[in-house]
Amino acid sequence: MPSLFVNGAWTTGSAGTADVLNPFDAGVIERVDQAGPDDVDRAVAAARTAFDSGPWRTTPAAERGALLRRVAEFLQRDKEEIARTETLDTGKTLAESRIDVDDVTAVFRFYADLADKDAGRIVQTGRAEVVSRVVPEPVGVCVLITPWNYPLLQLSWKVAPALAAGNTCVIKPSEVTPLTSVSLVRLLEEAGAPPGVVNIVLGDGPGVGAPLTEHPDVDMVSFTGGLATGQAIIRASAATVKRVAVELGGKNPNVVFADTDFETAVDNVLTAVFLHSGQVCSAGARLIVQDELADELVAEVARRADRIRLGNGFDEGVEVGPLVSAQHRAKIESYVASAQEEGARVLAGGRRPDEPELQKGFFYRPTVLDGCHAGMRVVREETFGPILTVERFGTEAEAIALANDTEYGLAGAVFTTDGARAHRVAAALRCGTVWINDYHPYIPGAEWGGMKRSGNGRELGLTGLAEYQEAKHIWHNTAPAPQRWFAS
Ligand code: NDP
Repeated sequence: MPSLFVNGAWTTGSAGTADVLNPFDAGVIERVDQAGPDDVDRAVAAARTAFDSGPWRTTPAAERGALLRRVAEFLQRDKEEIARTETLDTGKTLAESRIDVDDVTAVFRFYADLADKDAGRIVQTGRAEVVSRVVPEPVGVCVLITPWNYPLLQLSWKVAPALAAGNTCVIKPSEVTPLTSVSLVRLLEEAGAPPGVVNIVLGDGPGVGAPLTEHPDVDMVSFTGGLATGQAIIRASAATVKRVAVELGGKNPNVVFADTDFETAVDNVLTAVFLHSGQVCSAGARLIVQDELADELVAEVARRADRIRLGNGFDEGVEVGPLVSAQHRAKIESYVASAQEEGARVLAGGRRPDEPELQKGFFYRPTVLDGCHAGMRVVREETFGPILTVERFGTEAEAIALANDTEYGLAGAVFTTDGARAHRVAAALRCGTVWINDYHPYIPGAEWGGMKRSGNGRELGLTGLAEYQEAKHIWHNTAPAPQRWFAS
């Protein structure tokens, strides 16, 4: 079956095909069609026509919500198949992929419920004969560009609110993991999305992503990915003054005070950084730990990291899968090498696994680096892999200063039994999400996004819908009369 969806029809692309690899063994899972410049133009034209002339934006919002609710049902119906595809494509464990499908379902339900709740507001004019209304309207044609780590989840955060608001979309998933994005578009088709409302084009960033961000008929780009790509997209969008929302990387601090229960601290430090092999934008990659606890905690974290079971995401008992690609593993290896040159000590990992059955895949052992400081490249840059750096602090003020000493500001956590201190630190951290005595949870109702160079705008929550809306002011003078501004 062709893998591009343009104007309500599945089609092949003019740029041939590309192999999608299984990161567990580098085998080919599927061959998918690749969009050429003409396919990109056709997809944008279809979305433009569907927005300008189609029924979608004038469809009652409750009906748009009902379509999203049907997608949620289909996701649960097909949960096992979609989760298996996600594990094949990304390498993550099947348990994680099943959670992803449930989370995506929750996102569709959240925006289905929200679609018809905001009728706008009446604004006080001081004149009884004038009605002033501010109403939400869709932005128009939205290009949705997603990364490879949570392909289905990241797409749901964009496509569900975009459609709820009445926009039309062109989706461009990562070329590395496109499969579940195609599955989701099939469900949107089955749920009854009119032709042109949802389109998907596959291909790489330069060939497909860049022309979409430059296209004059696109009104908005919503992008999740790396900092450098986000900067390029903001530049590319300037010429046509598109609305741009960018969710970029993170270098997230996990601050642990000495009063934290030891087992709770060890367990959460491991989960924060090594889940999905650290390929998580909010990964707790920087452990910032209080002096009194540091040696004991770090030794136990390293011991437990060495015991993490790597393997095929489909196998029972496997805790972490491979990295997504050979190129990405090479990048991780270069970070560990540079950290060692700069004086970091490897307490765990720092190498590929030895097991013969893992040699074909893109595996790398969970790695703990002690003796780190903010001057090191591995501490400053997002590695997006299974690398934990350790920094130590004495006072609360030092902890806050270390945590904020980064150009990023996506997420962070503080572990302490002192409630007042927890909230002081949470208030002081310059990041979009702060967890207190927990790591990783997010919910569809609460906003997600970054401060500083982790991006602008928010996904999820009420703001996640507003990103895809224009606020239009309608002034209605019910008693028109000459204004007599000009005398003659
Ligand atoms: P990239 O920035 O490399 O790519 C993201 C997407 O942009 C891909 O679909 C890519 O296509 C596309 N792209 C690349 N170049 C361009 C271009 N010039 N114009 C338009 N699109 C382009 O990120 P990764 O896929 O490597 O994902 C990892 C990054 O994503 C990390 O930095 C991570 O922190 C971030 N991320 C942020 C999240 C958040 O919520 N803030 C959540 C998840 C990830 P292709 O890959 O096919 O070439």
